[in-house]
Amino acid sequence: MIFATSNQGKIREIREMLGDIGEPVLSLKDAQIDADIVEDGKTFEENAIIKAKAIMELTGQLTFADDSGLEVDALNKEPGIYSARYLGEDTPYEIKNRDIINRLKDVTDDKDRTARFVCVIAAAFPNGEVVTTRGTIEGIIAREPAGTNGFGYDPIVYIPEYGMTTGQMDPEMKNSISHRGKALRAMRDLLKERGLV
Ligand code: IMP
Repeated sequence: MIFATSNQGKIREIREMLGDIGEPVLSLKDAQIDADIVEDGKTFEENAIIKAKAIMELTGQLTFADDSGLEVDALNKEPGIYSARYLGEDTPYEIKNRDIINRLKDVTDDKDRTARFVCVIAAAFPNGEVVTTRGTIEGIIAREPAGTNGFGYDPIVYIPEYGMTTGQMDPEMKNSISHRGKALRAMRDLLKERGLV
């Protein structure tokens, strides 16, 4: 089976999580697929399905794909599906994160600073069937970035129950509570129900 990503970090997390699945999980690079897929969906679900289906149709193999991002409630759920593209794909996250903090400078009450990471995983089966799972982790936008672990928006997403940002968590801890971890475990359970693992 294939996981439609070229991100080696994601593939590692996915292999760890789906380790008992029996079959190797190939990245696009492993499968030597160089596809330019236009992600023009309006939701995380639509984008994950577009990617998974496109690669399944190319390969005829069971294909997974994910789509994820950060929703900030005070910004009408921006950057949402545009999280990677926010302020430009190549703009450093120090700048993207500072921009989000600045846009929330007048939002003083924590209850109005709520945000969440969302991850949707789609599985496209060779028979044309498609299923999705979704995981979220709720936090608030921090006043200042903190932490050097993780990537992207991790330094500004403060998780009150743990008293730290996801950028301050070690990878094991983040995996155990993260949006991607939850969506992956839900996908593993769904495959188990179908007797695929
Ligand atoms: P994707 O790889 O196209 O799903 O892009 C998701 C984007 O959402 C990433 O480039 C990050 O900007 C953001 N994002 C998703 N998950 C995380 C996370 O766990 N930490 C920090 N940022 C994330």
